[in-house]
Amino acid sequence: MDTTQAVILKPERDKSLRNFHPWVFLGAVEKFPEFENGDILGVLNADKQFLGYGYFNQGKSIVGRMISFHDGDPKQIIIDNIKGAIALRKTVVPEDTTAYRLINGEADNLPGLIVDVYADVLVLQANTLGIEKLKPLILETLSNTIKPKAIYEKSTSPTRRSEGLEDVEGWITSEVPQPVEILEHGLKFSVSFAGSQKTGMFLDQREMRQLVKNYSKDRTVLNCFSYSGGFSVYALAGGAIQADSVDSDKDAIATAKDNLLLNGFDASKNGLYTADVMAFLAQNKLPADYDFIILDPPAFAKRASDIKNASRGYRDLNRLAMQKLPKGGLLLTSSCSSHIDRELFQTIIFQAAKDAKRNIKILSYHVLAADHPVNLFFPEGDYLKSLLLYVE
Ligand code: SAH
Repeated sequence: MDTTQAVILKPERDKSLRNFHPWVFLGAVEKFPEFENGDILGVLNADKQFLGYGYFNQGKSIVGRMISFHDGDPKQIIIDNIKGAIALRKTVVPEDTTAYRLINGEADNLPGLIVDVYADVLVLQANTLGIEKLKPLILETLSNTIKPKAIYEKSTSPTRRSEGLEDVEGWITSEVPQPVEILEHGLKFSVSFAGSQKTGMFLDQREMRQLVKNYSKDRTVLNCFSYSGGFSVYALAGGAIQADSVDSDKDAIATAKDNLLLNGFDASKNGLYTADVMAFLAQNKLPADYDFIILDPPAFAKRASDIKNASRGYRDLNRLAMQKLPKGGLLLTSSCSSHIDRELFQTIIFQAAKDAKRNIKILSYHVLAADHPVNLFFPEGDYLKSLLLYVE
């Protein structure tokens, strides 16, 4: 590599890169070469040993994000990382499933890049300046390897704005009509990219949806924070008597209705409520006697400083749900806040159970779907945790 184009770290500040953690903090850098923000640079420790390549943006406290810990042509490294991500999905994406995460940022050694597959369409999210600059190469590689019918860009994240980039949303290639129909474990879902949350669906919960299917026979299910009704469709496919959906996003509830119909379920027998979940659960009399409640709220802790308030929020929410369940009821509860780790989440659930005065058993512990792998060297990526609980 060209050592004149390298970032040099301060003495003793190479430990995290030696542990293959992909972030370089500004405080660890002794000297930058001349470069333009977003460029890929080599990284050397104070003894001038080569540690890897990353792209850098001087305006940020996470000043660099690594794309490799070995030498080589950076362009080829990006191509190889994309191919590696594709190979992993060939192993983990289930049958009869046409929507999945193809590239998951740091987990695939491509920090700042998300690419999701929705049947013939790819949805791309570029969250950093480094990825923005690499976009032509990424698009060319994706077009050559995956050969999608169309690519939609949904680069609208707060991280992107903090990198000084404007939001970008729309078709990169020629358009295909929306919504598109995808399959998940053989079930059908309608997905629009424009105006949707995330890239269109919450793909990270796919395995939880399958779990719900397996536990739903003869149950009356309440799907809280339902988004487009994923858990409700699976519950009905698993033999639920009824599955009601509650979400504050009215477009999501409209899509939930479409998704019930697409799979041949009666939308008039399964409640669809545009409502705040806390207010819904606080009603004296719920619309049905639910014996399976699903709680999949948005991240309550967006920053470390939110942990205390977020814990209170999860505790109150779970208490309410526990109080509403009969003896023998099931509760699937999740948190997607990376700042609330597994141990803290279980403590919060313990406190909620105490408040609710219910005897609770943990049936199983759950993680992100396997197409959202967790890089062992980047535990921050392990944001989603779920518990399946039995209420006595
Ligand atoms: N379980 C869903 C994903 C849920 S994401 C799935 O499998 O697809 C979280 C959802 O919570 C979003 O759809 C968002 O619109 C909704 N939401 C956020 N705050 C809410 C509130 N206070 N009450 C109801 N829904 C809320």
